[in-house]
Amino acid sequence: MEKVKCLIIGAGPAGYTAAIYAARAGLNPLMYTGHEPGGQLMITTEVDNYPGYPEGIRGPEMMEKFKQQAERFDTEIRYEKITKVDFSGDVKKVWSETDVEIHADTVIIATGASAKWLGLESEKRLMNMGVSACAVCDGFFFKGLEVAVVGGGDTAAEEASYLSKICTKVHLIVRRDEMRASKIMQKRVMDTENIIIHWNTETDEILGESEVEGVRVYNNKTKEKTVLPVKAFFVAIGHKPNTDFLDGAMEMDDVGYLIAKPGSSKTSISGVFACGDVQDREYRQAVTAAGSGCMAALDSERYLVEKGIA
Ligand code: NDP
Repeated sequence: MEKVKCLIIGAGPAGYTAAIYAARAGLNPLMYTGHEPGGQLMITTEVDNYPGYPEGIRGPEMMEKFKQQAERFDTEIRYEKITKVDFSGDVKKVWSETDVEIHADTVIIATGASAKWLGLESEKRLMNMGVSACAVCDGFFFKGLEVAVVGGGDTAAEEASYLSKICTKVHLIVRRDEMRASKIMQKRVMDTENIIIHWNTETDEILGESEVEGVRVYNNKTKEKTVLPVKAFFVAIGHKPNTDFLDGAMEMDDVGYLIAKPGSSKTSISGVFACGDVQDREYRQAVTAAGSGCMAALDSERYLVEKGIA
C-alpha cells in the first residue's frame, strides 16, 4: 500500500494542469495516466485556439509540453490505469491495474470523455485527414470548402452552425426524420441557408485515400445512394465520459458525466474533485479543461488545509 496526499487520475490538459498546480503547492501529486496519456489532443493535428501558441501547435506536442511542465515540478507519473475505487472513507482507496493499492487524502478525476465514432473503416483511415470529432478545433482548416456533419443532437447542430459561417456548404446527415437537438438549435440550423439537412440518411463510406474527397450516404427508407462532394467529415454523435471504473461510486448524470458543484470542482464525495471533459458536456475545449484542472488543484489544496493535512 502507498499513501499520497493527492492522486490525479487522467492525463489530458485538465490532469496535467491539476498536477502543475498541486505540485507547486507542495502536494507531491501522483498521476495515473491510463493507456492514452494526452487524451483527445493526441488525435488532434493542429491546435490553433490555445492562447500562447500564436503559430499553433500539434496536439501531441502540446501534451508533451504539459507533461514536461508537470514533471518539472516533481509530479510522479505512472502509465497505468486505475481500475477500482473505494471512496467510502475519509482516506480514498484506489487500485491500479497491476493491483497497487493507493490511499489518497484527495483524488482529482480528469479522465475525460471519448468521442463516439460510427465505426467505419474509412472513418478510421482518414482520421485527422479530414475526419474529425471537433469542428471548433478543425473547422478552420476547411474554410471556404464544402463539409459534412453527422448527428442530430445539440452538438451536431452547434457544429453545423459554427461551420456554416466559415464553409460554403454544410451537409447535416441525420439518421431519422427528426433531430434530437433542442428546438432553438433546430430552428437555427433550419434557418441557415447553407446548411442542407439530409433526413433518414446514414453514412456508407467516406471516400479518399489520404484526404477526404467525398462521402457516400444512403437514404435508409429508399436505399438510394448519393455522393456528397465534401472535404471534411465531422462526427458529432455524442461523447462517452470515461467513468466506468468508478462503478457508480459518486453522483453522475444519466450518461455518466460527473456532477461538479457549480463554480467549483467539488463532487458528491468530499475530497474527490473532477475537472475537464469528464464533468463538462458543453464546452469540451483544451483551454476550459486546463482551467478546471487548476480549480481542482486549488480545491484539493484548500480541502487539505481545512483537514490540517497540508
Ligand atoms: P446526443 O446523444 O444528444 O445526440 C446524438 C445524436 O447523434 C443523435 O441525433 C443520434 O441520433 C445521433 N447518432 C448517434 N449514433 C449515431 C450513429 N451511429 N449514426 C448516426 N447518428 C447517430 O449527443 P450530443 O453530443 O449532441 O449532446 C449530448 C448532450 O450535451 C445533450 O444533452 C445536449 O443537449 C448537450 N449539449 C448541449 C449544448 C448546449 O447547450 N449548447 C451543446 C452540445 C451538447 P438519434 O437521435 O437517432 O438517436
